[in-house]
Amino acid sequence: MKVSPVEELFTVFNQTALVIQEELECSFLEALAETGENLFQGSIFQEELSELTVKRLEKHYEEIHLGKYSNEEIRKAYQLVILKGMQENVQPNHQMTPDTVGMLFGFLVQKFVSQQSLRMLDLAVGTGNLLTTVLNHLQKDIISIGVDIDDLLIKLAYVNANLQKHPVELFNQDSLEPLFIDPVDVAIGDLPVGYYPNDVRAADYQLHEKEGHSYSHHLFIEQSVRHTKEGGYLFFLIPNTLFESEQAGELHEYFKENVIIQGLLQLPISMFKNKNTAKSILVLQKKGEGVQPPKQALLVNLPTLSNAAEMDKILIKMDKWFIENKPKNR
Ligand code: SAM
Repeated sequence: MKVSPVEELFTVFNQTALVIQEELECSFLEALAETGENLFQGSIFQEELSELTVKRLEKHYEEIHLGKYSNEEIRKAYQLVILKGMQENVQPNHQMTPDTVGMLFGFLVQKFVSQQSLRMLDLAVGTGNLLTTVLNHLQKDIISIGVDIDDLLIKLAYVNANLQKHPVELFNQDSLEPLFIDPVDVAIGDLPVGYYPNDVRAADYQLHEKEGHSYSHHLFIEQSVRHTKEGGYLFFLIPNTLFESEQAGELHEYFKENVIIQGLLQLPISMFKNKNTAKSILVLQKKGEGVQPPKQALLVNLPTLSNAAEMDKILIKMDKWFIENKPKNR
């Protein structure tokens, strides 16, 4: 039976991670990051490994030549192995962004942003799956920057970006601490939803809660806006309840002062466990000289993505919206 390129790569990532995991007694995901680094560097870095294990790894590595695979094949295989590893234990807020969401982000960035060279920021880069899906779907020259607080996820992102040869600057830190990043043209993010525990840090944000903890997803939006150039675009995966929570009043005020809502695309509820955990993609533009709001924001209820007929209708509706509203200044 013919094995697909993604299966071929999956097998090598998986088997070599298992070999390293067994000998180094680490988690599967740690071992995956190690084997991924060996693969893109073309050398075995773990000095603790026995000679026999090194030989076993070399035999696996000889089976594949990364150059013959597309970036999407590499990303999908790597994503599947990460998903396998995440079954061991992962916090809900640290989950990878699914493919369908990443592809929609890519489509939207391509449609909204007309400049050819740009800088893109993801303050919750995690494994880099969302970021590299977007990069793989854009025909643009992009320098990207990713930040994440989780050291294992950022290592997986570093390996992910290198396997796909994407130039990404990565920072392992709390994204709500001061960032030494030049302003970007585009910010994206699958935002961590919930309370941010550091009230002292939160106080530095307009969107902080006066009593008790602030919502981290609100602070992430404000921090992304701060680091985006005037007229730049921001694309976020947000909970559907964003504009209804008890802290929504301040958010409305903040939006009025700083950004234009360009679009809100509600994902099909069937993608989520239930109505309360469902999400949407929010498209913002940072205010600035000459930046004009659209006649009307792009408001879409996306159908189940497997429903081709409904999806076609929505794509036609979106195309029409872009013809009538496409901002002229970017
Ligand atoms: N887009 C990512 C991917 O494809 O793997 C997944 C993003 S996940 C939903 C949210 C991410 O936010 C997690 O990776 C988590 O570690 C990160 N995060 C949560 N709080 C953070 C903070 N204060 N600073 C930086 N990253 C944070």
